Amino acid sequence: MAAPAYSNIHTIGRRPNSRNACPICESRKTTKGCYWREDSLGHWVMAYCKTPSGIRATNSPVPGQYIHINKNDQNFVEEMAQLNRKIEQERAEKPLTPIQLDEIYRYFLAICPLSDNHRIYLREEGVASFGCGTLKYSRAAALAKELLKQFPKTAPKHPLLLEITGKDGRKWWTIAVAADGLLFPATNIDGLILGIGV
Ligand SMILES: [Zn+2]
Repeated sequence: MAAPAYSNIHTIGRRPNSRNACPICESRKTTKGCYWREDSLGHWVMAYCKTPSGIRATNSPVPGQYIHINKNDQNFVEEMAQLNRKIEQERAEKPLTPIQLDEIYRYFLAICPLSDNHRIYLREEGVASFGCGTLKYSRAAALAKELLKQFPKTAPKHPLLLEITGKDGRKWWTIAVAADGLLFPATNIDGLILGIGV
């Protein structure tokens, strides 16, 4: 789990180095993994450090570290928590990276094995069947369910998946490629799958 970003706007992040020592353990070694943030006056406001301390040390979401808050003002903590939620939300709204897209396309092709008919057809056409698949549209909802189970965070944002709202307001997921057919992956120069044609 990544460290909460705290306020990226009003504070700056620091790691130990020759000029900056951790405010808790005073280490200048980056390898210790200490991380803290300073306000505009150069005062540290929160720190992650392996050393427990009386300065508001609580177990941190970063395994093996403590979070130390150098302000007694509860408003500060709440303001930071609120900013963290905002940052998390913004992160969640970001589109998927090519690697995340590729991962789901690959899994999708793996659960849509090429049918014998399609394999014969490709052989007759002299086209390599490697990486191709067969989509049976009757399985679309089951395939969507499987992708959401495997990739609960990224699948809802993937172009392969489509959320449908029925007339009665009921919602379900399906595959955006809404037809029976032969699946052809389109890859970029790095070999990442950027899309699938039918
Ligand atoms: Zn430290």
